[in-house]
Amino acid sequence: LAPTPYYFTHPREARLLLHKRDRYSHKGTFGHALLLVGSYGKMGAAVLSARACLRSGVGLLTVQIPRCGYPVLQTAVPEAMCRPDGHQYVLTGPSEVEGPPPGDYTTVGIGPGIGKAPETLAMFRELLPTLKKPIVVDADALNLLSENRELLEQVPPNSILTPHPKEFERLTQTWKDDYEKLGILRDFAKTHQVVVVLKGAYSAVATPAGEIHFNGTGNPGLSTGGTGDVLTGVLTALLAQGYDPVEAAVLGVYAHGLAGDRVAEQRGPIGMVASDVVDALRWE
Ligand code: AMP
Ligand code: MG
Repeated sequence: LAPTPYYFTHPREARLLLHKRDRYSHKGTFGHALLLVGSYGKMGAAVLSARACLRSGVGLLTVQIPRCGYPVLQTAVPEAMCRPDGHQYVLTGPSEVEGPPPGDYTTVGIGPGIGKAPETLAMFRELLPTLKKPIVVDADALNLLSENRELLEQVPPNSILTPHPKEFERLTQTWKDDYEKLGILRDFAKTHQVVVVLKGAYSAVATPAGEIHFNGTGNPGLSTGGTGDVLTGVLTALLAQGYDPVEAAVLGVYAHGLAGDRVAEQRGPIGMVASDVVDALRWE
């Protein structure tokens, strides 16, 4: 096994990665992201990822949701534009959806709350070959990749995949210890030429070049439903703003964890909810 270059994100490094805003900027400067999120019973994931995306500096945000989620999203996230899917309960677009094709957006984030309905798999299958720029893939979109491995090759190079350990195990294999896990992680990122964020305490960001960046921010308060959906919104916003995918992953994971640390400081680590993490995001 060749030696793996390991890194640990330093606060100063994170600050250096942050893009400064031009005085003469406008909303077009910061990209137009498309989130494909939510299904009946899981609209919270859509709301959380959308709010996190907006709180992470995206210029414009469009959210494609099943029709049942339309009033939910318009009410909970008035800043986002809605793109109602053709289906009442699950995502089935892009074919029968009005508006530009997903490939025309600056970037796409897909997964939180989408479920694994056959129609949604068909949508994912249709969508992937139309995308040319890096995207963010999370949650059930990752599980769809695990169950339909031929789709893995269709994921645009340098996309960011954000599995928690169980999702990563489904994508790859079981491991006997952390050392083996890191080897599997590095090989997967290199083989498929993607950035993989293996989430948890000390999240590991594996790059297509085979490096691993560990993150020290975050705390066990984040072990609660919805915090991963927040991360998807954060990373989608950074890609939309033109961040390099590796830098987006390193910075986004750091800032997400730091937001969790701010919440823990203010109200303790127990009983944190994902919305608190959105509200605690700060980019400076
Ligand atoms: P998910 O499992 O998709 O909801 O994602 C959970 C999010 O919370 C990820 O960003 C994890 O890195 C983070 N998280 C969960 N538990 C911890 C922990 N004990 N320490 C730090 N971060 C955590
Ligand atoms: Mg998740």
